[in-house]
Amino acid sequence: MVDVAVVGGGPAGSSAALTLARAGLETLVIDRSHFPRPKACGEYLSAGAVAQLRTLGVESALASSAAPLRGIRLSGNGVRVELRFSEAGWALPRAQLDDALLQSAIAAGARFSQARLEDLTKEETGCMLTVREPDGETRTVRARFVIGADGAHSIVAKKLGLTMPQRGIQRFALGGHYTGFGDLEPFVEMFVEGSSYFAVNPFDAARANVMVIVRENDLAGRKNDVDTFIRERARELSGNASRFAGARLEGKRVAVGPLAHATRGVTAGSVLLAGDAAGFIDPFTGQGVYLALLSGIAAAQAIVTAYHAPPAARSAQRTYEADLMREMRQRNRLARIVRSVVRSAALSKRAARNLERDPGRAQILIDAIAGCGPLEPALRLSNLLRLVA
Ligand SMILES: Cc1cc2nc3c(=O)[nH]c(=O)nc-3n(C[C@H](O)[C@H](O)[C@H](O)COP(=O)(O)OP(=O)(O)OC[C@H]3O[C@@H](n4cnc5c(N)ncnc54)[C@H](O)[C@@H]3O)c2cc1C
Repeated sequence: MVDVAVVGGGPAGSSAALTLARAGLETLVIDRSHFPRPKACGEYLSAGAVAQLRTLGVESALASSAAPLRGIRLSGNGVRVELRFSEAGWALPRAQLDDALLQSAIAAGARFSQARLEDLTKEETGCMLTVREPDGETRTVRARFVIGADGAHSIVAKKLGLTMPQRGIQRFALGGHYTGFGDLEPFVEMFVEGSSYFAVNPFDAARANVMVIVRENDLAGRKNDVDTFIRERARELSGNASRFAGARLEGKRVAVGPLAHATRGVTAGSVLLAGDAAGFIDPFTGQGVYLALLSGIAAAQAIVTAYHAPPAARSAQRTYEADLMREMRQRNRLARIVRSVVRSAALSKRAARNLERDPGRAQILIDAIAGCGPLEPALRLSNLLRLVA
């Protein structure tokens, strides 16, 4: 029996495994993918996420591969706002970020097994996991504690009955790395129209991560012609036919969806969920990697407490659950308010005017979203922007 099985080697799983291995617990990371692996993501790392990497001691190893970002340029409804970060964010391919985190966990003593989790059952002490290896063989692993960090639509959450059904129209994300731009500056550019948007996150003046988020029905009938579809939507949403005309896909296109998912809780017995497995956060505000690192580290710390002091296990888990659910609720609220302002022509015009008049307000908002400023004042302020902007 291992002390902890961590399902998923993304930012949540690897930050948890690194923290557990450093605390001396026998840790096994199980991921179906061979690393390095790509991940459908805008590949923007907020200042808060960079600070978490610093806490983990992996920031300096990644800094030379990352492109610093100075802010965000948001366009839509005829309004264009530039919001500057008080601390730089990064553009960094996920293949590099996730592999560096996983290798740090392995160097600290965690073991890695490439296998797909197929089943999980609770036992008197801990859990039994059934995994399928790449050669098709299945085997079982027993673990005293489990961290479910297996991303959106988590199988760990599903097996524990923590998944909630989703209603309504779903959204999908399409994109990849594009080259051939000539004029990119170190700003994330976002072009919004209703619930669709197009985001460009520059690695340098010529290369960028490009993501188009569309509704399920927009994609109907276009599944065999996705590249043309991405170009058309990028042109329409940016309102500039020539700007992206020369851009071409470099490497593989990524497509993912449906995006939204939900859980009714983040702990069950000796299992803790972390990162996307714990719940959905709208990718629009780029808070996902920050939350994955934060929750991965916190889940590991709760398990270290429970391991050394079993009577304190329940209270450590309850604190983890309460803290993470509050953080996710507040960050989702912030994301919803920002989206509702951006979606409405009248509100976005007034909000843009107010933010321009009072740059201090803009800073409170952008710092909170980036995970390097408090959330409460930003929530009060963003409500104000929506209601009386
Ligand atoms: C379109 C899009 C754009 C985004 N853009 C940004 C952005 O710019 N900035 C930002 O901060 N966030 C962004 N996000 C969110 C961010 O990608 C996620 O929040 C983050 O990846 C969560 O990390 P994680 O470790 O929880 O999960 P993941 O990174 O998804 O890792 C989960 C791991 O679990 C493994 N796994 C899954 N199922 C199994 C199984 N059954 N058995 C074994 N292994 C399994 C997978 O192989 C994977 O390696 C975006 C999300 C989307 C969808």
